[in-house]
Amino acid sequence: MTARLLDGKALAARLRARLAERVAALPFRPGLAVVRVGDDPASAIYVRNKDRAAQQVGFLSRTLHLPATTAEGALLEQIAALNADPAVDGILVQLPLPAHLRPEVAIAAVDPAKDVDGFHPLNAGLLASGLPGLVPCTPRGVMHLLAEAAVPTAGRHAVVLGRSRIVGRPMAQLLLAADCTVTIAHSRSRDLPALCRQADILIAAVGRPELVRGDWIKPGAVVIDVGINRLPDGRLVGDVAFPEAAARAGFLTPVPGGVGPMTIACLLENTLEAALARRGLARAAA
Ligand code: NAD
Repeated sequence: MTARLLDGKALAARLRARLAERVAALPFRPGLAVVRVGDDPASAIYVRNKDRAAQQVGFLSRTLHLPATTAEGALLEQIAALNADPAVDGILVQLPLPAHLRPEVAIAAVDPAKDVDGFHPLNAGLLASGLPGLVPCTPRGVMHLLAEAAVPTAGRHAVVLGRSRIVGRPMAQLLLAADCTVTIAHSRSRDLPALCRQADILIAAVGRPELVRGDWIKPGAVVIDVGINRLPDGRLVGDVAFPEAAARAGFLTPVPGGVGPMTIACLLENTLEAALARRGLARAAA
């Protein structure tokens, strides 16, 4: 078997084009504010990409770059100012923060209605309760990829590797909401290969290069590789051994060009949803 590749780059481009059309028809421009603290080089690239993507679909985008020495109180003041700013519909605090700042405190300070990362405990609680709210971007992107490939979910066994607040947990909730039978595996789980072999849909979000081998995959399964890992030789690989998986899976996402581009497209979708909800033009986001 040779897996069909799920092209996240192309799907994300279509989503962004559709968003740009919707934004052009609005009487206002949605606003996204990104807060970056310190000088983490990877964060600088992510923030620049988010800013560019937001501007391309017609949003007002601004980045607040604070020094690495910013005190927690000062960060919370900046977040409060963005919460109160009517031109700002979406706020995200770029992670990781410098070690002296607690990410959970910063995240909880964001107005849940502007929490376009979907990390606020209120939005996490809504998702866990099966209620509408703002959903984390990467798992939302994965659901788009599954829908685009017309992958049936009802009654299918989904195995999610990883239980982070950003990917694994919300991913499992979304699959549950799509009527999958869901197993969440993590670093303390026993016999990962046997668990993975049960999966009709396997989502790898562990951050371990090529952990998932070909013989962990049920023939014909849908395999979504969320991992982004830089090898010492500079190559970028996922959490799944791609050539082995391609020989077994029915569908497979490449790295790069699979889940990654979907994350930013879904951030833009969340921002538009938050903007509409704040103006009473769509269901309340939170
Ligand atoms: P994390 O480090 O917060 O969580 C990793 C999870 O994997 C943990 O729950 C841990 O229990 C589990 N884990 C670690 N080692 C394991 C092992 N050997 N066996 C089983 N489980 C194990 O990471 P995260 O933020 O969830 O990100 C996971 C990966 O996804 C990373 O490679 C990250 O770069 C990538 N990522 C990609 C995108 C994207 O847009 N494509 C977005 C977010 C994260």
